Amino acid sequence: MSADLNEGGLLVSEDLLHLFDEIGEGVIITNRFAEVVGMNRMSEKMFGIGRDVSISKSSVALLNTFHDPTTRARILPANLPFKQVIVSERAIGPREFLITREDGGESFVQISTSPIFGENHYVTGTLGILIDVTNRHALEQMLTQRNLQLSAVNRIATLLNRTIDFKEVLEYSVRQTMDIFTADAGAVLLPDKTGTRIYIAASANLNEEFLSGVHGTRVDSSVFGRVLSSGTVESLNRHLNFHRLPDLIKSSPFDSVVIFPLKSKGKVVGVGGLFSEIERTLEDSQKEIIEAIGTVIGAAIENSRLHEETIQKTKLLESKNQELQQFTYAITHDLKSPILVIEGFAKELKRSGHLDMDQDVLIGAIMTSSGRLHSLVNDLLELARVGSVEATMEMADIGSLVERILGELSYRLTERKIRTTITGKFPVLMVVVGYVERIFSNLIDNSIKYMGNQKEPNIIIGSEEKDDHFLFFVRDNGIGIPEEFHERIFAIFQRIKRRETDNVEGSGLGLAFVRKIVDLSGGTVWVESAGKEMGSTFYFTLPKQ
Ligand code: ADP
Repeated sequence: MSADLNEGGLLVSEDLLHLFDEIGEGVIITNRFAEVVGMNRMSEKMFGIGRDVSISKSSVALLNTFHDPTTRARILPANLPFKQVIVSERAIGPREFLITREDGGESFVQISTSPIFGENHYVTGTLGILIDVTNRHALEQMLTQRNLQLSAVNRIATLLNRTIDFKEVLEYSVRQTMDIFTADAGAVLLPDKTGTRIYIAASANLNEEFLSGVHGTRVDSSVFGRVLSSGTVESLNRHLNFHRLPDLIKSSPFDSVVIFPLKSKGKVVGVGGLFSEIERTLEDSQKEIIEAIGTVIGAAIENSRLHEETIQKTKLLESKNQELQQFTYAITHDLKSPILVIEGFAKELKRSGHLDMDQDVLIGAIMTSSGRLHSLVNDLLELARVGSVEATMEMADIGSLVERILGELSYRLTERKIRTTITGKFPVLMVVVGYVERIFSNLIDNSIKYMGNQKEPNIIIGSEEKDDHFLFFVRDNGIGIPEEFHERIFAIFQRIKRRETDNVEGSGLGLAFVRKIVDLSGGTVWVESAGKEMGSTFYFTLPKQ
């Protein structure tokens, strides 16, 4: 470092400057005209100048390299801390500057400047301590950039969460990605069912010619298909990789295109395309962000697709169900009249009194069978009606409802010496009273019917309050149910063939009723039983609202 150190009234000894060379921070010394008269090796590095450069000659150039770190505007030497310290005769704390050097390099430095006082207490110069904060700055910028992009991912995720509508999801996706990456046009492309061709599902700012050129192209012959198969982002640029650009894009106004995979659960479900009229290449960090966005969009597309499918399937099921209901209703209706005729004629014959003993027995058998058939048809009719006929809901105290049913069954209960217990706190709920009565009476009736030879027959009816529903149960210590029948017994006409129930009458409709009513009320029903002779507990839930 050679300079006319004496110029400007400040005397800086060479030794002193050499001493500064040993410290890790930059040191700059100016004279009282705020011209640089000395700097240590570290400062030279920051400003990109060598020892041999004459400081006095380069002072002006040096001071012209100071820029604002955010706006990058050049700062006039008069506004630098050196001049300000000389005027104010006070130290100025750390201020950050961007040093743009002639060799094209840049450093961010933090300068703290203090006045140097001469013998007569006049300011004879300034001393600046420089800290290189380039790395910190780069890190900060990276973090800010990252933050911005992550909030973009967040924004698109929030927006896509707001809708489940397939078309809307696609349109939002195109618009949002264009917005985030400031693209001029965008598209979402999806493969057809066979996965061999690709279609444009939504787009913005792409002309008809372009759309029809891409629409329906074979997966193995287009760049979109390539990304669909590879699942990796492609960033194509008119100059960098022109040969890889599809002809359609070559002849379009776009100079660069980014094609990214839309993934759901690791599977590529489509691709997104972003088109720009300017040349640009994606940085690695942007690639990661676009991949993340692709995953958000992919998941939203899959969700809305599933939703649409569910709606379709539900519609189909509803119509099938209705068909079935109408069928059962018609059949049972039509069965009912001939049964009534048989019953009527049998009754007439019996009443006429012209029958001998055998005929009388036979007619009696016909009457019993047709009577059973009659009540079976009635049950079927009723089962078909559950849910298809509008039923009135009302507030009902389930506890008293259960007591009422036990009262109705009291004759059979005492006859079989069955002890009944009601346990837990029963709620008052908004229900179709007839339905809930039917559930409890069918379950309790079964407990009586399937008690077997139990010495101390016992039925417990209980209720428990849960988070969003009430749980009810009917427990008996009867013949129990082997596990393989736990599901089947709820289906229509399903009865378990076992010797001990040979003379127990039933239609196999009771539990079908229970399941249909519980399903319709939004609850679930199931049975638990440790097996033969181990008793059974039937559970069902009813939602609180
Ligand atoms: P049903 O009683 O008219 O046969 P359900 O639909 O009510 O028809 O019951 C179906 C079958 O489930 C019964 O035939 C019986 O084998 C079995 N089951 C129902 N409840 C019980 C119970 N509490 N204990 C043992 N078996 C039962």
